[in-house]
Amino acid sequence: MLIVDWSGALLRDTLVAIGLSTMALCARHYHRRPDHALTPGGAFEADRCGPVEGVAAGAGIVMSRRLLMVAVALLAGCASPPPDERLHSTLWVQTSAEYAISTRQVFGMATRGLDGALADPGWTALEGGRTGAELRPAIIVDVDETVLDNSGHQGRMIRAREGFTRDSWRKWVSEAAAPAVPGAADYLHAAADRGITVFYVTNRHHVLEDDTRRNLLAAGFPVASEEDVVLTREETEEWTRDKSSRREFIGQHHRVLQVVGDDLADFVPLPKGADDEQRLYLATVNAQRWGTYWFMIPNPMYGSWEQALMPGGVALFGRPMEDKFRHLDTQ
Ligand SMILES: [Mg+2]
Repeated sequence: MLIVDWSGALLRDTLVAIGLSTMALCARHYHRRPDHALTPGGAFEADRCGPVEGVAAGAGIVMSRRLLMVAVALLAGCASPPPDERLHSTLWVQTSAEYAISTRQVFGMATRGLDGALADPGWTALEGGRTGAELRPAIIVDVDETVLDNSGHQGRMIRAREGFTRDSWRKWVSEAAAPAVPGAADYLHAAADRGITVFYVTNRHHVLEDDTRRNLLAAGFPVASEEDVVLTREETEEWTRDKSSRREFIGQHHRVLQVVGDDLADFVPLPKGADDEQRLYLATVNAQRWGTYWFMIPNPMYGSWEQALMPGGVALFGRPMEDKFRHLDTQ
């Protein structure tokens, strides 16, 4: 609501100045990308700010009352970015002490379990996995959001108002600059120092393996060179998105002491189309494994938990709010 004295020249001039400044700000802030019209963010940008640019060019000459009102309204509309449901979880990962504590807590627990697991030749973290002192000890870790922190890529998507795209992901991976998840390097070195081979089992596509290896080394992680320890998706025909075949491959020659991941699928095969109740059942039937053989790193930003809520197994971003609200428990 606007209550002004329209005859007041000073006030009018002030509003004009504010309006023009706002338009300029909007134009600068939201019209940087040439492809904006093709993105969800583009729709916002065009609706809110796009038409203003042409008007702004001649606005110094004629400023109607209507335009003044539009200018003031723009203060509210363009002064802050549009809401994005991914923002809070990403900020939690990037800024909160609680996230860093949580990840260090998990890696610390896993580290303290290494000696006992190593000393027990009957210890295996794999269902039906081989045991025996003759097998080489190993651990299996997932990469993304388990040992490498890609919240920066999440931040880029939020800034751009874009969903996940292969191009933006590959660009991020090619930079090989994702930092370590807090506590990961200490844990991985604690394992390597004990003669335990660290296997990185990731669903990054195999064409990204070299970049991934560079990033793991840049983050200060141990990456053995005697054998391939970075097992990527489709590196062989059998190595599908389901990581079971890769765990079994490692288990043929190694006694796997621990598995660390950020997604249920890092530990068990997920039935196609599994809903949230089926996932919780899988968590419950494996209750004795969590914190002893299997260790879960928190990832509130994305994961297979999202797909369990949406028909067709899609991510939550960009889905209708009502589809998400119906999962909200208020009891
Ligand atoms: Mg992951």
